[in-house]
Amino acid sequence: MTLSLNQPLEYLKGVGPGRAAMLHAKGLMTIEDLLSYAPFRYEDRSNMKSIAQLAPGEMATVVVEVRSANLAGFRRKNLGLFEAQFTDASRAVLLGKWFHGGYLADRIVPGRKLALFGKVEFDSYRGELQMLHPEFEMLSGDDDEGEAALHVGRIVPIYEAAAKINTKILRTLMYRIISAMPPIEDHLPEVLVRRLRLPDRATALRETHFPAPDADLRMLNSFRSPVQFRLILEEFFWLECGLALKRGKARMMPGIAFQITDRVREQVKAILPFKPTNAQKRVLKEISDDMKLPSPMNRLLQGDVGSGKTIVAAEACVIALENGYQCAILAPTEILATQHYLSLKPLFTKLGYVPALLTGSNTAREKLQIKKLLAQGLVKIAIGTHALLEKDVEFDRLGFIVIDEQHRFGVMQRFELAQKGVTPDVLVMTATPIPRSLAMTIYGDLDVSAIDEMPPGRKKIITKHVPNDQVELVYSFLQRQVEAGRQAYVVYPVIEESETQAMKAAQQMHAHLSKEVFPNIPVGLLHGRLTSAEKESAMDDFKHGRIKILVSTTVIEVGVDVPNATVMVVEQAERFGLAQLHQLRGRVGRGADQSYCVLVTEKLNDTGKERIRTLVDTTDGFLIAEMDLKLRGPGEFFGTKQSGIPALRIANILRDEDILVLARREANEFVNDPPSKEDLAKAVTYIRDHWQRSYGLVQVG
Ligand code: ADP
Ligand code: MG
Repeated sequence: MTLSLNQPLEYLKGVGPGRAAMLHAKGLMTIEDLLSYAPFRYEDRSNMKSIAQLAPGEMATVVVEVRSANLAGFRRKNLGLFEAQFTDASRAVLLGKWFHGGYLADRIVPGRKLALFGKVEFDSYRGELQMLHPEFEMLSGDDDEGEAALHVGRIVPIYEAAAKINTKILRTLMYRIISAMPPIEDHLPEVLVRRLRLPDRATALRETHFPAPDADLRMLNSFRSPVQFRLILEEFFWLECGLALKRGKARMMPGIAFQITDRVREQVKAILPFKPTNAQKRVLKEISDDMKLPSPMNRLLQGDVGSGKTIVAAEACVIALENGYQCAILAPTEILATQHYLSLKPLFTKLGYVPALLTGSNTAREKLQIKKLLAQGLVKIAIGTHALLEKDVEFDRLGFIVIDEQHRFGVMQRFELAQKGVTPDVLVMTATPIPRSLAMTIYGDLDVSAIDEMPPGRKKIITKHVPNDQVELVYSFLQRQVEAGRQAYVVYPVIEESETQAMKAAQQMHAHLSKEVFPNIPVGLLHGRLTSAEKESAMDDFKHGRIKILVSTTVIEVGVDVPNATVMVVEQAERFGLAQLHQLRGRVGRGADQSYCVLVTEKLNDTGKERIRTLVDTTDGFLIAEMDLKLRGPGEFFGTKQSGIPALRIANILRDEDILVLARREANEFVNDPPSKEDLAKAVTYIRDHWQRSYGLVQVG
């Protein structure tokens, strides 16, 4: 029987509807999908011995039969010790012991055959050889010869189970595919295969699942055997080719060549309320150089919290405005949009431009009015939330778009807005420093500018960790800070799905703090369920010092700017991601006074401790982001499913960053300077067919 790669998995012997469903749940639909489900580690079971040949201290594999098995008490305590006696043709005896092994009682029963793999020890009390907690796999009499030999006597692949489909079943399925494998076409450009001396795709797939007898186990387990290298490189290569094509396509589109005259320069200077830092000057130059080009700009502006991205964006807006175009500034939350509006309005108004604020909570009439003014080109600057993305918002001459805190938006939305104008220039801003590996994948189609310098006069924020049972100390500290004229935030996490619960926690805490703990201090409350008028007034009261302590959910996470606030207390800090905590901390330390961040925790596991320690020890956003990515993995990093992170099968952006860098370089070279037109055309077709399915990203077009 031969199979074809795009056949559904149901065609495979041993995959019925039940197993098919379990595999589908892992995103595995076709034969090719299953082939790309690579082992996560390998075991060398080639050291096959009979029990009589075993020596204490060695790692070995034996094929044995269960002679007896029982769940035993251990001395006086019942530890649930499960013990089995095994034997084989050599008639010698080997003991297997599993603590808390009760669950094995109905699997390891006399007469069963199994393969054991583990370290051989000598039980001096009993005078027998034993293995403690050996790996084992049940062998059954009806396995056919060829397949039975898959599981022992070789380097054996270990797969992550897919629901009830365990590693042994997966191994058998892989074997069936490999034995019936149709000729597999190699789509990687030949030049690349030759220059990097890559094994062909068929060999790579076969030997990734069933390594050659002389394969190096250490290399395999670090994912650097030549065959794994090839598959990882291939996955990255197509991803980066797709991104390079997208970038190239964007460059081909007609954009706006903004003029930067002396007058424009003067106007840009005129809005500045302070002297920009060198870093701010440098990135503005990078942005304006890009704006001058006749192709659309797609640029990411990175800068740690408080590094001063907003003013740079405003300066860039002035360039567009002075060229007669409209601007849109997009923020992820109403609070942030409102704050941008309030802080930018006086700056733009100085130049005679009056911005409009458009959010979900404008009345229908207000919205209608603002939309009309935007469509007629009478309002030049729109500041708002995703309400700005609605289909019926039209601009007369949209030329420049700022998207603040990009990671809150899906990548798709980025393109929706970009299509509203005549391919306007787009500046995306983020305060979550993106580790290089991620930037190369999700933001692979953007150019990057970075502000790597803080405005002058900032003091380092002091971060402390306080267990919940000492929270009184925090309160007395808050009291003293407020008496000294400062202000503070107290933040509660949004627990999983439930904004409502977070709101309740915040409400309760607000009542508790304002009535019992700080009866003489004005305490405000801010959460996502307030009307926007209520939010605005809470923010305004805090900004003007009428509220001293602001109890809030994470709605204040991004962008809120009140320089007199010097204390950030985060309750249940263990529930937050590192990057998020760093964001929250960035709400203080914005003025000249010494600022503090207090992380209050309830229960901490080891990872939790490490996370809190990282935050206490460092204020370097990049380091924190790297750490967060390591501890939580790319999927969780942004805390949003639709952040446009490609789904990778065998490659791993953390482990394989070096291969990613190589693949990106190769892909760029291939796309920009292909060996021949036909080669490029073939690659484009291949990517078009595989891109969306393989990486779950938007079509290349
Ligand atoms: P972020 O990059 O986090 O968005 P902001 O743009 O909100 O940072 O800037 C943080 C604070 O620093 C604001 O109060 C802003 O007015 C101030 N700021 C920015 N740049 C400078 C500068 N060059 N000199 C003095 N203050 C600055
Ligand atoms: Mg900001």
